[in-house]
Amino acid sequence: MRTVFHSCLKPRAAYAIGIIAALLMVVVLVMQGTELWVTAQHRLTFAVGYGMAFCLAHLIGSAVLIRRGQTLSDSVSLWLGIAVFVLGLRQLSFLFISQASIFAVLEQLYSLTAYGLLGVVGWLGLKRYEYKDQKLKVSQKEINELKMALDAHAIVAVTDSRGVITRVNDKFCTISQYSREDLIGRTHKVINSGHHPKEFFKDLWSTITQGEVWNGEVCNRAKDGSLYWVQSTVVPFFGKDGKPEQYVAIRADITSRKEAEAQTQHMALHDALTGLPNRRLMNDRLITTIQSKERYPSFGAVLLMDLDHFKEVNDTLGHALGDELLREIAQRLTQCVRKVDTVARLGGDEFVIILDRVGADLTAATQNTKSIGEKIRQALAEPYQLGIHQLSVTPSLGVVLFDASDDDSEELIKQADIALYSAKEAGRNQLCFFEAILQEETNERALVLQELRKVLERDELKLFYQPVVDDQQNILGFEALVRWFHHEYGSISPIDFIPLAEQSGLIIPIGAWILETACWQLAQWSTDPERQNLTMAVNVSARQFNQAGFAEQVQEILIRTGARADRLRLELTESMLHDNIESTIVKMETLRKLGIRFSLDDFGTGYSSLSYLKLLPLNQLKIDKSFVDDIFEDPSHAAIARTIMALGNSLDLNVVAEGVETQQQLDWLLDNGCQSFQGYFFSHPLPIAEIETLLRAKQAGHATEH
Ligand code: C2E
Ligand code: CA
Ligand code: CA
Repeated sequence: MRTVFHSCLKPRAAYAIGIIAALLMVVVLVMQGTELWVTAQHRLTFAVGYGMAFCLAHLIGSAVLIRRGQTLSDSVSLWLGIAVFVLGLRQLSFLFISQASIFAVLEQLYSLTAYGLLGVVGWLGLKRYEYKDQKLKVSQKEINELKMALDAHAIVAVTDSRGVITRVNDKFCTISQYSREDLIGRTHKVINSGHHPKEFFKDLWSTITQGEVWNGEVCNRAKDGSLYWVQSTVVPFFGKDGKPEQYVAIRADITSRKEAEAQTQHMALHDALTGLPNRRLMNDRLITTIQSKERYPSFGAVLLMDLDHFKEVNDTLGHALGDELLREIAQRLTQCVRKVDTVARLGGDEFVIILDRVGADLTAATQNTKSIGEKIRQALAEPYQLGIHQLSVTPSLGVVLFDASDDDSEELIKQADIALYSAKEAGRNQLCFFEAILQEETNERALVLQELRKVLERDELKLFYQPVVDDQQNILGFEALVRWFHHEYGSISPIDFIPLAEQSGLIIPIGAWILETACWQLAQWSTDPERQNLTMAVNVSARQFNQAGFAEQVQEILIRTGARADRLRLELTESMLHDNIESTIVKMETLRKLGIRFSLDDFGTGYSSLSYLKLLPLNQLKIDKSFVDDIFEDPSHAAIARTIMALGNSLDLNVVAEGVETQQQLDWLLDNGCQSFQGYFFSHPLPIAEIETLLRAKQAGHATEH
């Protein structure tokens, strides 16, 4: 029904009505033609003129309305146009005074049609109003919803063309902690954090005053002084003069994202344990400092620091306390230097300190760095109170100075490392400057290490043997001492290559070779009644002894070679027994059960504590050669040698004096109760062939004595 009604209201219907009305009028006029006209002669000219004008006005009005209806597709105008058109036609009926009743009928018909059409117009207008009203309500609702959503999410502010705030939403007030009254009438300066440079805001203003939208991240300050970050979009709105008359700023709170970003960045560049810059940041800072030398010529310094025996702290007190100690050290280090300097942790117990502008010339720079280094050394040496534990650590420091803007950061760290190495070599707890000579030593070490890797496959190692004699100078046994005969460089002392083998881990295969070679020798002697009682002392290095499965390895070698375990002596040094005393004892006990004996080598040079000396299953102490050397020159050394002998006596340990070179030394040692001796006075370490000759000569000597 509705649709039938609607289709009747289409423009076609209006046109049809108009055309029918016009045709009807034409037909009637033609039919009544002359009669009408004659009748009209009697009418007043004025009335005719008025009637014509009125009719014309209607027809013009209708034409305008129909045109408008067509161009704007406006049905109301169209229907109204047709209604006016019909009214215009109706006017024609008055033009002529006629007796013809047809005109009375026509007038009524046209009036009715016109009212009908006006009714349609009214109805259409009403519908349109309802429709528009409904649409307005819907869009109002939509706008409200959008506004609510925007307010819930965004921080909104509207300013005038000068930037004075005219409107803010609740969210703006909440985040900035300012009330609406605080904000309105003021500019955004009120929340300026000072984080951005002036240029930043200049750029913002130049963008929006040109009528463009500005986007950016801004750090603002809330009323309580705290900072917050917003992602801001500022949109300019134009006035009639084409210039921006107000700006709407829509912002989103991105503080937590910014904080997370900052934290991630901090984590990427800082050490998690101490919060100090890490290797990456240290390297960046070092490069910047080096580059700054071009503009500000002066010396800078890199200090590479490492804690002495830090591993012991971790091993004995646990990693948690070790970490605590590192944190405390980081703090003390930071306090020792200026704010502009960098203290970084490279990892483990390694720290780097970059000092800038330590002096204009080398002498001043060296002097200043030395005193800062000394300050650091002293600050770190102060005891640490960690929970119930009080402990002390000392640092070793390697220093390198730089003043050239083209210095290489990695090279400087390497040089500081070389200097650190020599600080450790020189007895730790000190500061050592890098010198070119150190570099040479390092290069040499690298070369030796390269050759050392091939020593076994090239079969360049030999064992020499040095006799150990009793108070009658009878040979009790030998100490096996390794020799390296390099095919090109000749003989290389174990003093030079054993530490290197230790550091590089090569001591494991080399040590195994030494042990096995010495055991083959022992096995060979075991079949000879004259030699089966000879002992063989083998030096064992720390890394070798501490490797897992060392006891099993020794046992295997004994089985493989057929050497007698009770003739084998293993020489350990004091320093290697400090770490993990319990597991050391277990290992020694395992080996002792096989019959193996232990000597404590170089005794007196380390820091043995008597309490654990008693715990260790030892058989022998070897008085270090340095004490024997000085017994006549240095009374304290003589006293130490005497003490060691007394100690050996009381702990029921055999004592061997090493490095005996003269008759006087031997006499003094004999007078003081020493029972065993070793040294050039009796024999140098010799290759096996010469040892055999020596043994044969001894035998022959004995034979003639008897
Ligand atoms: P060490 O175990 O204290 O060996 C004694 C060193 O003193 C040997 O030096 C020996 O030749 C030397 N010596 C012995 N009597 C005298 C003397 O009367 N006067 C002087 N001036 N020196 C004497 P060497 O053979 O050069 O060994 C040096 C160090 O190298 C050894 O000290 C030991 O720590 C290490 N070493 C040598 N051979 C081996 C080995 O096979 N394995 C391990 N791990 N270390 C070894
Ligand atoms: Ca030795
Ligand atoms: Ca020794």
